[in-house]
Amino acid sequence: MTPISELGEFGLIRRLTEGFSPKNASTLLGPGDDCAVLQCEENSARRLLLTSDMLMEGIHFDLVYSPLKHLGYKAAMVNFSDVYAMNGMPRQLLVNIAVGRKMGVEHLDELYSGLRLACDHHGVDLVGGDTSSSLTGLALSLTCIGECSEESIAYRSGAKETDLICVSGNLGAAYMGLQLLEREKQIFASQPENDVAAQPDFSGKEYLLERFLKPEARRDIIEALKKAGIKPTAMIDVSDGLSSELLHLCQQSGCGVRIYEERLPLDYQTAVTAEELNMNVTTCALNGGEDYELLFTVPLSMHDRIAAIDDVREIGYVTRSELGACLIARGSGEEIELKAQGWQAFGKK
Ligand code: ADP
Ligand code: MG
Repeated sequence: MTPISELGEFGLIRRLTEGFSPKNASTLLGPGDDCAVLQCEENSARRLLLTSDMLMEGIHFDLVYSPLKHLGYKAAMVNFSDVYAMNGMPRQLLVNIAVGRKMGVEHLDELYSGLRLACDHHGVDLVGGDTSSSLTGLALSLTCIGECSEESIAYRSGAKETDLICVSGNLGAAYMGLQLLEREKQIFASQPENDVAAQPDFSGKEYLLERFLKPEARRDIIEALKKAGIKPTAMIDVSDGLSSELLHLCQQSGCGVRIYEERLPLDYQTAVTAEELNMNVTTCALNGGEDYELLFTVPLSMHDRIAAIDDVREIGYVTRSELGACLIARGSGEEIELKAQGWQAFGKK
């Protein structure tokens, strides 16, 4: 038996899907991007976008510190984010749940209150799903349907040499939030009789916890780009970590990238907490994952328009593929090869 870790998540997906070729003219794009792309009707420029994401208890979330309302919200955001990453708008949502024995009706009400809030914020309709019991804990699998016109879709494959590389928001904060929650969980578990008085003190760290527990998909960035008349040449959302997503862009666009360490967007609390936990903040920003920010490329001529958009930063540029994917170190200017050390479902970090 070959262990799945030998192929890794992406190698596995490639192996499983390569034997399938589309039989329907309406299937315009299959596996490999943030969404599949379907044609609605012949000669129409309207496209449907489809994406699915699964969240498993014990793998993606821990109910010890994930409030169910937040979890519902996050499960929806993870899906909406993939639609925004194609430059589309999410419209409908299907929700499949498998529920373990520990849960009652009120728990699921909480989960759904988070889903409802997410759907209200993003103008999405819940249109179906499936419900089952589970022997191993809670499992959530959501499918989102989005819309876009053909000329607006941003694939992972469109980055061109000399394009600017941009990222929204900041990176590494969700990962720091997770580290804090995990650390407090360990401390709590080691208390005699789980002393209730020993409540964790997260004051000052609320932003980091929120970034992990209740991320927000960047609809605002898609709207701002549209308003500024910018169509990204390529786009992907940052779910597995910046390095991993940059390597996807390189692979699918046939290009290389240069990223400046000093340009990586970091929240002040991320930097402070990394130092407190004795972690390298650049590593957290590159490999942390779960940021749900948008990473995209634009032609060099868009520099001024990008500079005028709030909360977007240019972090580097696209090169020829032979030059590979590198981080340019602060100070020394040394080129360090980027590796995908982000979230790997079947391997170790
Ligand atoms: P994302 O992080 O953007 O959600 P993933 O890394 O989960 O994307 O998946 C990458 C691509 O592979 C997507 O196009 C997805 O639809 C496809 N994919 C993932 N798992 C499977 C699977 N088991 N079978 C078929 N396609 C899959
Ligand atoms: Mg994605």
